[in-house]
Amino acid sequence: MRPAILNPLFADITSLKGVGPRLAALVQKVSGARVIDVLFTRPHAVIDRSFRPKIAEAAIGSLATLEVTVDRHDPPPVKRLPYRVICSDETGFITLIFFNARPDYIATALPEGAKRIISGRIDDYSGARQMTHPDHIVDPAAAGGLPLFEPVYPLTAGLPPSVMRKATQAALARAPQMPEWQDAAFLRANAFPNWNAAISAVHAPRSALDISPQSAPIQRLAYDELLANQLALALIRRARKKAAGRSFAPPGALRKKALAALPFKLTGAQANALKEIDTDLASPDRMVRLVQGDVGSGKTAVAFLAATAVIECGAQTALLAPTEILARQHIETLSPIAAKAGVRIDILTGRDKGQARAEKLRRLKARETDLLIGTHALIQEDVDFADLGLVIIDEQHRFGVNQRAALAAKGWRADMIVMTATPIPRTLALTAYGDMDATAIGEKPPGRKPVDTRAMPIERLDEVVEAISRVIARGEQVYWVCPLVEESDLIPMTAAEERYKHLFGLFGDKVGLVHGRMSAAEKDAVMERFHRGALSLLIATTVIEVGVNAPNAVVMVIEHAERFGLAQLHQLRGRVGRGDKPASCLLLYKGPLNDTATARLKILRETEDGFRIAEEDLRLRGAGDLLGSAQSGFPRLLFADYAVHGELLRAAKDDATMIVDRDHDLKTPRGEALRILLYLFSRDDAIKLLRAG
Ligand code: ADP
Ligand code: MG
Repeated sequence: MRPAILNPLFADITSLKGVGPRLAALVQKVSGARVIDVLFTRPHAVIDRSFRPKIAEAAIGSLATLEVTVDRHDPPPVKRLPYRVICSDETGFITLIFFNARPDYIATALPEGAKRIISGRIDDYSGARQMTHPDHIVDPAAAGGLPLFEPVYPLTAGLPPSVMRKATQAALARAPQMPEWQDAAFLRANAFPNWNAAISAVHAPRSALDISPQSAPIQRLAYDELLANQLALALIRRARKKAAGRSFAPPGALRKKALAALPFKLTGAQANALKEIDTDLASPDRMVRLVQGDVGSGKTAVAFLAATAVIECGAQTALLAPTEILARQHIETLSPIAAKAGVRIDILTGRDKGQARAEKLRRLKARETDLLIGTHALIQEDVDFADLGLVIIDEQHRFGVNQRAALAAKGWRADMIVMTATPIPRTLALTAYGDMDATAIGEKPPGRKPVDTRAMPIERLDEVVEAISRVIARGEQVYWVCPLVEESDLIPMTAAEERYKHLFGLFGDKVGLVHGRMSAAEKDAVMERFHRGALSLLIATTVIEVGVNAPNAVVMVIEHAERFGLAQLHQLRGRVGRGDKPASCLLLYKGPLNDTATARLKILRETEDGFRIAEEDLRLRGAGDLLGSAQSGFPRLLFADYAVHGELLRAAKDDATMIVDRDHDLKTPRGEALRILLYLFSRDDAIKLLRAG
């Protein structure tokens, strides 16, 4: 139940003075249907009306607030001419101009002989000062007067600024005195105001600084918002963990064999990730752990070794991959290791049919398969495990929550590992994956050579073609990525198809093409030929972005690199440099480049660190875009900005973790106040997870 103190804020906006049904529809467009939505609508600018010169001092073009006497009205002789009102002070005259004016309105607003404060832009009309449609006309004797600093709100057609201003002021008047949900010492240390003072400052700013993201009031509200989000996530994380899981804590004989079978030694980062996973597996809580590691950081080995713990305990593991190719790649690399270690592994994809499929399912059911790798086919209803104890999701962003849950539901209290190579900045990961425990593999296996990355204008295409012909002659392979664009309205040919034709003309059937409009089976067939070395040059759209390993591919050409996002370019580049040969990435661009594109290409040349690239991406693009593409269903942020408030986000995460550790049912006085905070930012779903009563 929503705390009663919040009821005034959750009322309909029509309950606000001055917002009738007609205006409500418009206000709703800008803010939302509830008073709280209006209250949480931030001004994006502040008009400074503190400049109060005499008429003679008011410079043309300036925004000025003048105290004048209304001298006389000059109604238009014909309707299409403006209504003029001549005013003055002791230093000079100014003419107010009204088009399509209602004379009765002007008569009441500006009675002849009266003193008025007017505010607006000073225009020049052949040497004389005038002001067209003043923003404000007020009686100096009237209460309230004119704000020195006026908040400017987002608007929509038909909604006058004055209505939005009145609505927000009315919403502000409704705001109840809130109990403090933040830690007093934290507020003091940051010099943050209390909530009521903060929200007042936003709607009654005393300078433009008051509404900047760095101001104390905005930071306070941003922190409230971030804490609400992090607290909700922490509560979800806790509830999920408390859902009973299983304890897998074997002596470790199988792990030992698997480690011995691996053709390499684990990196420190891999070993560390495995240790964290082992702790989770051993605990009776349910594990939901994110393993985040850049392309090529070696997540597959970690996944396999994790599975050995579960398998040694007699349970099974499922590894879900987003594509057939990836599933096959996994089974290819893992089969020899599994065979040596004595792990029985199998693959199940959409290609398995009939008798063969039935046999695979039988073995699974009979516990003759320990590790089943597969695509979405794993989720099919008739896929029955004897005892599924661990679910591993590879390239997790390719799957929805429901698909993950459907696979987990085939087990009994199954633990879960989700893996991703999508570099998300650390700050955003807190939000994107805040409901999971996270492990980062921040180190790559030794011996990887940096990919020689160069940017060059598309005009140098001939040189590039020449260079790749030498690469192909050496028996090495090349990726050539084109953006998704239609070259012509009449012939719907993609840039990739066009380039394919061109290069096929030069290199013949060593060239293959994959693009998004091919069927999955067609794509797989081409990729498979490339993988096996039958093709030397693969022209592709971004369908090759995810996970595929072709150690013999040493060059990545990206055409129109300026059209790709930073993270995407990084992912694409990650396709090469996976073997021991030196690799290069050629970023072909079509000039002139704008600043952002220039910055992107520069960063790529500077670093291969996915986390650093992700941080830069956040800076260049803003969080909305990043999360929008990486993950959906995020709450829109009202006050916080991930690009600016990273520090606050980290503090909120720690704070939330501590709160949930100490007061998981939100029962202390602070806990009670925090419940209000969760409702305030509509994160109250999490409250349902608290123990009733
Ligand atoms: P990703 O994290 O992108 O899924 P993979 O698991 O596919 O990466 O690993 C990339 C490559 O690195 C594979 O060829 C794998 O065999 C190799 N690899 C993984 N771990 C190590 C290691 N510790 N030392 C050397 N090579 C490794
Ligand atoms: Mg992988």
